[in-house]
Amino acid sequence: MIWDTHAHLDDPVYKEDFEEVATRIQSSGISRVTNVGYDLPSSERSVELAQAHDFIYAAIGVHPHNAEGVTDEIWKKLLLLAKQPKVLAWGEIGLDYYRDLSPRPIQREIFIQQIKLANEVGLPIIIHNRDAHQDVLEIVKAHPPKHGGVFHCYSGSWEMAKLLLSLGFYLSFAGPVTYKNARHTVEVATHAPMDRILVETDSPYLTPEPRRGKRNEPTYVIEVVKKIAEIKNLTFEDVAFQTMRNAETIFLPSCPART
Ligand SMILES: [Zn+2]
Repeated sequence: MIWDTHAHLDDPVYKEDFEEVATRIQSSGISRVTNVGYDLPSSERSVELAQAHDFIYAAIGVHPHNAEGVTDEIWKKLLLLAKQPKVLAWGEIGLDYYRDLSPRPIQREIFIQQIKLANEVGLPIIIHNRDAHQDVLEIVKAHPPKHGGVFHCYSGSWEMAKLLLSLGFYLSFAGPVTYKNARHTVEVATHAPMDRILVETDSPYLTPEPRRGKRNEPTYVIEVVKKIAEIKNLTFEDVAFQTMRNAETIFLPSCPART
């Protein structure tokens, strides 16, 4: 039983064969998938998917790419969505200084605002951080999430990971941990304690080896589990079990539908 804690199954690339993707997920021992929003429409779609499929849960929020132009109306609607059953996190939120699709001061403001909203509604946060390590760190120190947080597809150094772990964060690993050039990520996975690790796919992106370059889907989270088992010298079952428990620990207390 594995929990893919970060996917975007509402992406149009699944339009043609969504049912087949869903069947593969369920027949491969993937018992839960969190569908993560990045703006209001994708957050709404995440909640709809969670309502339609037992194995799907939802996260809602505004990605740093979409930080510019957020209105009070959008906050109101997100707050309503946050209270829907099977919504178990606020995300993905954070900073992206690699693509810089929204001005950095606005990214920071919207990130902080969403940590406050998550605290208000009692949800943990899912953090996206790309090339913004220092600012993300300063913000989460100054505005700590009250209900926990996950660094999704963690890409920072072990030095930063140590700090984040000491602040109570979880680190989530995706396809890149299987890549040949993933020295830093492997180093983090080697040292991170087993009870603070999550697994994800970020489907349809970041497809793990051996399918790198093709469309990703939650079933391939198996490759991430395999790699972590290899790195930590544990069995596949141990990693699946422990990462599932970790995900339950952070996500299920906040979720009204605790099944
Ligand atoms: Zn994502």
